[in-house]
Amino acid sequence: MTWISDLLGPFKGFAVTMRQVGKPRVTRKYPQEKRVKPPRFHGRHVLNRYEDGMEKCIGCELCAGVCPANCIYVRGADNPPDNPVSPGERYGFVYEINMLRCIYCAMCVEACPTEAITMTHLFEMSVTSKEDAIYTKDELLVDPDGTPNHPQAESPLIDVKELRLGDGWMRATSSAGRAEYEGVVAWTPQARNPDLPVEAGQSAESTGGDDG
Ligand code: SF4
Ligand code: SF4
Repeated sequence: MTWISDLLGPFKGFAVTMRQVGKPRVTRKYPQEKRVKPPRFHGRHVLNRYEDGMEKCIGCELCAGVCPANCIYVRGADNPPDNPVSPGERYGFVYEINMLRCIYCAMCVEACPTEAITMTHLFEMSVTSKEDAIYTKDELLVDPDGTPNHPQAESPLIDVKELRLGDGWMRATSSAGRAEYEGVVAWTPQARNPDLPVEAGQSAESTGGDDG
């Protein structure tokens, strides 16, 4: 009776299609419509500034040391006394990340003592040459007003306004695991974002579930 099964095959296929008619669509018209990312989404990095515009990076190389993919290159230099770049003795003179090697683990973010390197919800990072995949300090350092630079800023795909969808900035520290620390701001204010809302914690009270 294989011929009967073959005959019914297309109708079974149509039945699958018809069962979906009227159901809510799960696909989106990307890039016109963008999905709000989870709070701890690991997107492209930025080098942050303090509210007064000074750079947070002190060139300590801890991020480079902890990176499991060996994709960060940092060189520190002494701050010029009459025109310091960062509040510390030294600042990040050279800073590069090879995005082709990066595995977006955020260990650099966790290791940084000054919350200089954090990640964002920006993820559109296609390039046409290997050289363009190496982000230098020019591309990583936010502007004095806190706006992130993006190598493909002219591309119609890139829209830094996405950072305002929900809350497109990942904090330097992870959200609190213990209820008594929920609602406590645990990061240094950034240029443009001095009042980032507190991230939700992980307790049952915060998530509305059972934290075990
Ligand atoms: S996210 Fe992970 S792999 Fe990428 S630069 Fe940071 S430490 Fe390295
Ligand atoms: S980003 Fe942070 S960890 Fe890396 S060199 Fe700068 S201050 Fe040190």
